[in-house]
Amino acid sequence: MFDTAIAGSLPKPSWLAETEKLWPQWRSSGPELNQAKLDATLVWIKAQEDAGLTVIGDGEQSRQHFVHGFLEQVEGIDFEHKVEMGIRNDRYKAMVPQVVAPLRLKGRVHEAEARFLRAHTQRRTKFTLPGPMTIVDTVADRHYGDRVAMAHAFAELLNQEALALQADGIDVVQFDEPAFNVYLDEAASWGVQALERAARGLTCTTAVHICYGYGIKANLDWKQTLGEEWRQYEKVFPALAASSIQQVSLECIHSHVPPELMALLAGKDVMVGVIDVASDAIETAEEVADTIARALQFVPRHRLIACTNCGLAPMSRAVAEAKLRALAAGAALARQRLGTS
Ligand code: ZN
Repeated sequence: MFDTAIAGSLPKPSWLAETEKLWPQWRSSGPELNQAKLDATLVWIKAQEDAGLTVIGDGEQSRQHFVHGFLEQVEGIDFEHKVEMGIRNDRYKAMVPQVVAPLRLKGRVHEAEARFLRAHTQRRTKFTLPGPMTIVDTVADRHYGDRVAMAHAFAELLNQEALALQADGIDVVQFDEPAFNVYLDEAASWGVQALERAARGLTCTTAVHICYGYGIKANLDWKQTLGEEWRQYEKVFPALAASSIQQVSLECIHSHVPPELMALLAGKDVMVGVIDVASDAIETAEEVADTIARALQFVPRHRLIACTNCGLAPMSRAVAEAKLRALAAGAALARQRLGTS
């Protein structure tokens, strides 16, 4: 009961990349960088295991950014001529590459780190990919002229990589779709369809992560505008409940999401965010267990996975390590309270 997992990203060690940045510059290049990425992955596999997590990820140590790590292996994208674009409905400006031709994968995207992860832990593994709608919202389109068509083109490529990750031995393939919380009607009408296309044919566990973003200022300011109750999930959860996706990762602790919205995910495993990524304060085991208890009013205990609200990438390494320990300790306490430890 109560598996424990991270949403996806973890901070990069200072010898791998700039620290406490969302778009860090690498410290080296070529073979040295490739080795450094795997070394950092090993550090975080061990840290997750030592903390006591039951599902282990690669901490996204091999990619600079959760979307562009994938895009770099896609043909048809011009990285040389980036343009400034407002993303997530203009919440922030970013320099983004442009889609200029039909999309095709150049080859495997995450083979090295996925196989490395599989080889270095006996526990269940989770690997993250950006979701099609979020990718579409993070590139400039100069070719397709239609967001849905472009989303399905990306979904096809994601599907190829997801099937390969499964063949690498990954147990859970998770697609990250923060855009689902921004384009509510589109998420329910075509976002979930594109997501299912990305997950087509997978026999491993499939998951989607939907959040209110990293704990960076633009996101914190945006959250201030969302009012007392954050009901964004209300539109997309019923569409997800009717979909083939098996697990849904959502924000809970310190968010204004009404917990009863989790009841809309009947039949799904729910990765409940019990660790805040917007604050350096380390949660106590009691706080984590209390958050789990709140979620248990709406999620059956065998379907609850304790998770972080979002990735921990922009945090300091020490804070992230402490939060991993808090996550595992809180889940242990929750089990104990239910008399099942
Ligand atoms: Zn997130």
